Amino acid sequence: MTTLPPRRETRRITVGDVLVGGGAPVSVQSMTTTKTADVEGTLAQVYALAGTGADIVRITCNDVEAAQGLAEIVPRSPVPIVADIHFQYRLALAALEAGVAGLRLNPGNIRNEAHIKEVARAAAAAGVPIRVGVNAGSLDKDLLDAYGGPVPQALVDSAVKEIRYLEDVDFTDIKISVKHSHVPSMVAAYRLLADTVDYPLHLGVTEAGPPPGGLIKSVAGIATLLLEGIGDTIRFSLTADPVEEAKAGRALLEYLGLRERKGLDLIACPSCGRAEVDVIAVARRAQEALEAEKLPIQVAVMGCVVNGPGEAREADLGIAAGKGKGHLFIKGQVVRVVPEDEMVEALVDEARKLVAEGVEARLAAADAGAAALATETAIELRTVQGDANRATERRAAVAEVASGE
Ligand code: SF4
Repeated sequence: MTTLPPRRETRRITVGDVLVGGGAPVSVQSMTTTKTADVEGTLAQVYALAGTGADIVRITCNDVEAAQGLAEIVPRSPVPIVADIHFQYRLALAALEAGVAGLRLNPGNIRNEAHIKEVARAAAAAGVPIRVGVNAGSLDKDLLDAYGGPVPQALVDSAVKEIRYLEDVDFTDIKISVKHSHVPSMVAAYRLLADTVDYPLHLGVTEAGPPPGGLIKSVAGIATLLLEGIGDTIRFSLTADPVEEAKAGRALLEYLGLRERKGLDLIACPSCGRAEVDVIAVARRAQEALEAEKLPIQVAVMGCVVNGPGEAREADLGIAAGKGKGHLFIKGQVVRVVPEDEMVEALVDEARKLVAEGVEARLAAADAGAAALATETAIELRTVQGDANRATERRAAVAEVASGE
């Protein structure tokens, strides 16, 4: 397997019990969409996010009732809570009083130097870090005028100006974001920032929109940077249930090998004319059933036994269809053959056993004759359909031309 480039070296901060930067695992963040004053509703969402993979949850603190809600939410939350602050610095002080594990300040709308320093002193006293959260959509007007728009350098200048205020009062418990809704600008801004400071970075494409576009934009921006070793914590900003954000963030980190797999990684062939089953429907059924099991496993759903087990031999477990049967395979080796209408159930059953007993034990428990039966079916299908890329046929044609017959 290809290894990722080394992660960028940064300072390390602590958000509650979550380490950020300095080589710590990249963490996943999301944000609640409930009114913070609705304590039970907000906590229900926090629990749902934590259960899906969010390591840190941000909650808006936009009025006194929200700050009061935080005072009840924070002690009951399973994950650290960060208060999101815009415009009113006193709400940052109130959120600290409520016991939050982090603050996010937007330099574009809290500009008074004395106020920023007052918040920094209070955060230092509470041992709470601050995210300098620059957003292209709410950039300081002076910077917009100076640069003619929210270009990457303007975002970085905004962050640096705010950091200097914090550093003036010896506050360095900082992480930074420079979010932009335009993916290339977002990537350029973070690269520039990574060359400018050594604080940990919070990555995100702002206002990415609903899926699938929002997902694509977020993955394009965040994954590009993570693959360069840049980024210490991430958030997908989707116009969707925030659970989808946490799920996507967690999945991205697992697919990039930056976090250990906690859940299912379902791979499936795209299907083609050779498919012996409705691959899309089977993959959907398998995904639903396996996700409910919460097993850390990679499973392949393949449309035909001719190519399926070989093409998906890297998967822990897989199923390939052929002539009304499902062929279960472990690391490419067929271990059981079941009727097609039982293949998803058999897959789930084998997944449970594989996670509990391990690959060696399950290969040893393979049904006698299963591999031979699969080979027989594959040969039969090849005879009817031709082999991969019609290789036999094409080789014969080439030989015919070469021999001049
Ligand atoms: S596994 Fe079979 S059905 Fe699926 S794409 Fe490959 S050849 Fe086609």
